[in-house]
Amino acid sequence: MTTNTETAVQTVLNYINGQWVESDTGKTAESRNPADRDDIVGRFQLSSNKDLDRAVEAAAEAQKGWKKLAGSTRGDLLYKAAAIMEERIDDIARTMTREMGKTFPEAKGETARGIAILRYYAGEGMRPVGDVIPSSDADALMFTTRTPLGVVGVITPWNFPVAIPIWKAAPALIYGNAVILKPASEAAVTAAKVVDCLHEAGIPAGVINLVTGSGSVIGQGLAEHPKVNGITFTGSNAVGKQLGQAALARGIKYQLEMGGKNPVIVAEDADLDLAVEATISGGLKSTGQKCTATSRVIVHEAVYEAFRDKLVEKVKEIKVGDGLESDSWMGPSVSEGQLNTVLSYVEKGKEEGAKLLCGGSRSVDGANAKGYFVEPAVFDEVTPEMTIAREEIFGPVLALMKVSSFEEALELANDSEYGLSASVFTTNISKALAFINDMDAGLVRINAESAGVELQAPFGGMKQSSSHSREQGRAAIEFFTSIKTVFVK
Ligand code: NAD
Repeated sequence: MTTNTETAVQTVLNYINGQWVESDTGKTAESRNPADRDDIVGRFQLSSNKDLDRAVEAAAEAQKGWKKLAGSTRGDLLYKAAAIMEERIDDIARTMTREMGKTFPEAKGETARGIAILRYYAGEGMRPVGDVIPSSDADALMFTTRTPLGVVGVITPWNFPVAIPIWKAAPALIYGNAVILKPASEAAVTAAKVVDCLHEAGIPAGVINLVTGSGSVIGQGLAEHPKVNGITFTGSNAVGKQLGQAALARGIKYQLEMGGKNPVIVAEDADLDLAVEATISGGLKSTGQKCTATSRVIVHEAVYEAFRDKLVEKVKEIKVGDGLESDSWMGPSVSEGQLNTVLSYVEKGKEEGAKLLCGGSRSVDGANAKGYFVEPAVFDEVTPEMTIAREEIFGPVLALMKVSSFEEALELANDSEYGLSASVFTTNISKALAFINDMDAGLVRINAESAGVELQAPFGGMKQSSSHSREQGRAAIEFFTSIKTVFVK
């Protein structure tokens, strides 16, 4: 998988047809540690359409045999991959922290989740895939079965560089598809380590392939390739919509999971300590770089000041630093571009009249000067039309808004083009039920932070957050297979 031992910098190769190979272009790019720009984590291939072609041809050929294997045989290979990943968990998590910045405990938790997802889908290989439907012809047998799509393009972001590729690739594989993974360039080395576990497990050549490089070449190339039968994408809305259009033009299946502007409501009867803790954890862990991160915090006026003061006190205590240091609670932004985006939203918030209570500037103390660190920000006096209340920032910025009733809070929470995740903190069952019924979000959480969902449950958004299919758990079968209705007489 890697070469170049002289410099101790790993060069990640493409993985095509069971082989680690250099790109046809002969070009590589660097992946650097956002906590320390002098630290080169690795180099990865800047691939071309020719590389992609080779991978797709191999996948199309391999899928013919793969789909014929028993589901349990495919499952055994996923169990093996999970065991290999478990042996390598520390190395994978360390690479993730160095490559995209989240703290080591979070990276290890994510890798553990990737292992659990592999095991979940390994088990799926032995579960029912269809229904027997009573026919009106008493002599006939009618049932449904499932058939794989064929070759699936998996295009993933950097923020969950292990969990997202696995929660897409594992169901694709277990239901008999071949996969081309195109990971984000900011997490290409981590992705290669995931693919290496599948390789070592003995997944047949061509069934899983890795092609790294530019999104507009490889990502778009996957959506347009005549032998790709479906694409599953997680990332920004701009790219997702473009890929969706390309897939639609070809009449292939597509699945898009995109941005969020996730609200939390703190009702006047909320457990304030819990609400503060969950707002911080949901909004600021992973430096706010989660699609389900809390961004808008809508608080009833009766508890507004008490909540705000507790929140700010705790946010000020957050230790920002290299995620490999055990006392760091929040790592860097993933890149200079992302750091500048966060800083420009903070400026915009101030310009538009919101009051910055803490954070929002670059953190440059000591070793932090070598990376893309930013102090977590809390804004007060945010109004619904402000940019920081409307656009996804994807950084550690919390926008506080005051309301005078629960109905107003719910209306404000729904006043967004996004609908991914939403939380309410209340001890009143009627308010919780109103929130469950009327909140337009794919994940609705009561007395729990907005970020996160268990791996066996459906995951996905409403409105502009998603193309409305669901990932994870049993729901994944809907995207990665087509139903065949069978009539036997
Ligand atoms: P991104 O859209 O920039 O990149 C995602 C993937 O698409 C990467 O592999 C990238 O290389 C590729 N890509 C980039 N440009 C492309 C193009 N023109 N054509 C085809 N592919 C292209 O997103 P990102 O910066 O990696 O991730 C951050 C975004 O992801 C945020 O908006 C976040 O909300 C979203 N996200 C959503 C979920 C979810 O499940 N809803 C989860 C995680 C992240």
